Amino acid sequence: MPDTPWVTMYPQEVPQTINYPKQPLSGLLEQSAREYPNHTAVSFMGKTLSYKKVLEEAYRFANGLQALGIKKGDRVGIMLPNCPQNIIAYYGALFTGAVVVQFNPLYMEREIHHQVTDSGIRILVCLDLVYPKVANASEGTSLETIIVTSIKDYLPFPKNLLYPIKVKKEGLFVAVPYSDKVLSFKRLLSSSPTTPVSTEINPQEDLALLQYTGGTTGLSKGVMLTHENLIANTCQAKHWMYKCKPGEESVLCVLPFFHVYGMTVGMNLAVMTASKMILLPRFQPGDVLATIQKEKPTLFPGAPTMYIALLNHPDLEKYDLSSIKACISGSAPLPLEVQERFEAITGGKLVEGYGLTEASPVTHANPIWGHRINGSIGLPWPDTIAKVVDPATLEEVEPGKAGELIVKGPQIMKGYWNRPEETAETLKDGWLFTGDIATMDEKGYFYIVDRKKHMIIAGGFNIYPREVEEVLFEHPAMLEAAVIGVPDPYRGETVKAFIVLKEGQTVTEAELDKFCRERLAAYKVPRLYEFRKELPKTMVGKVLKRALQEEEANRMPTV
Ligand code: AMP
Repeated sequence: MPDTPWVTMYPQEVPQTINYPKQPLSGLLEQSAREYPNHTAVSFMGKTLSYKKVLEEAYRFANGLQALGIKKGDRVGIMLPNCPQNIIAYYGALFTGAVVVQFNPLYMEREIHHQVTDSGIRILVCLDLVYPKVANASEGTSLETIIVTSIKDYLPFPKNLLYPIKVKKEGLFVAVPYSDKVLSFKRLLSSSPTTPVSTEINPQEDLALLQYTGGTTGLSKGVMLTHENLIANTCQAKHWMYKCKPGEESVLCVLPFFHVYGMTVGMNLAVMTASKMILLPRFQPGDVLATIQKEKPTLFPGAPTMYIALLNHPDLEKYDLSSIKACISGSAPLPLEVQERFEAITGGKLVEGYGLTEASPVTHANPIWGHRINGSIGLPWPDTIAKVVDPATLEEVEPGKAGELIVKGPQIMKGYWNRPEETAETLKDGWLFTGDIATMDEKGYFYIVDRKKHMIIAGGFNIYPREVEEVLFEHPAMLEAAVIGVPDPYRGETVKAFIVLKEGQTVTEAELDKFCRERLAAYKVPRLYEFRKELPKTMVGKVLKRALQEEEANRMPTV
């Protein structure tokens, strides 16, 4: 494999090395606010905020946190959808040297409780809508103060600063009074100064983020990402998108910031390049299409299910999507048909990339303006080395052979929070063991075969669900397909496919069986089908296979 294959893909004017700034992550916001003070940083439901304003608000929040006793190393939770408060709280917390812990606003009490106790956060910022479950979940934990905000706080007609939090109890709305434990976000900001806050940070050692992962595969654990990790991945993203110009781009931020992918390739990249962030708190295909037409984003990082949903929207043809220049799709495989149609409709580029929370997250992508290969996750990013190894011997395997993908680079995590054993299993000699089975070709392009844990063993044969899903996806009636292994008395496990058909389409099990048998070895062909209206998904659109597996387990007869 060539040492740095990406170098040969780039035109000569693109620098071949990256100088990573040795600074705290919060420095990105100060820099953009200094160089582009009046540029729009945020556009949210018709309201805009400049870089200068966002910086001032972040300083206010930082001063407010310090007044509440927050100091370097303390953990501060953020449980917000994409809205201005998320960016302000994130950078504000970083200015104090605190470690940000992002929470999915859809978490239920059990999940909130686990993350609050595991991370030991002292303060959490959340929406009024979710306040009741946060209050219940945090009883008896380290959480001292809940800062409550409303989605309307930054709209042209914000609610009164002293509005009470309204909570529904037995069908009626009851006001919860603010107290020294429950504060109003707006009031905290208005009573705090805009004086700069800074803390001595060692970017290599100090944590910026504890990012919880593993929700789709088991008990979630905190990934420790340093300032250096996150700055490195943001610089690598900027380098990959070398045609994008600082101060001139606008990013459609619909991937949630509470997932590290939306945080790095959406928020941090936008802030580093002084781009406009067009915030959407939820993915709703009609809204996304209308927003693209109105706000004309140039960049749109997303997940395959998002692009698929847009392409299947009945009014797609009515919208002008021609502002889009570049999209990186990650989190799951990107089907060729989706890539081609999306590019034809927008005139921009859509390439597949790959990453994981433990890598801040991106490690690979196809070149946006260079040679890309369909079905491949592309090349390792600058300064990232990747190998495919035999899981038993840890020896590198030949090109074309499958093994575990391992990666090394400046974006790789420091370890798991308070979990030395899991850290030692996952990080060996600086190599991150991704848990993904992959192959590499002669040119150095990588291909994900499947997740190690998703592998089905049926009658002694190894089956990678992804291969079966790809075949199902080739069927013209198919909208989505997810394949899992279910217990089988004879084969140990057998293959079950969950199917969502395109609107108005019908297909029988027998037709699908025939379709698969013509394309797959018999042992890989699903024995069971279940037709659904939709599949359970994570917020970044990844199918929650664990949920499907749990449903199956619950259906098993108990003896
Ligand atoms: P997370 O840590 O939640 O971002 O999940 C990371 C996992 O998503 C990886 O370990 C892969 O299993 C999967 N993943 C990410 N990108 C891709 C891709 N392009 N193709 C297939 N799987 C992917």
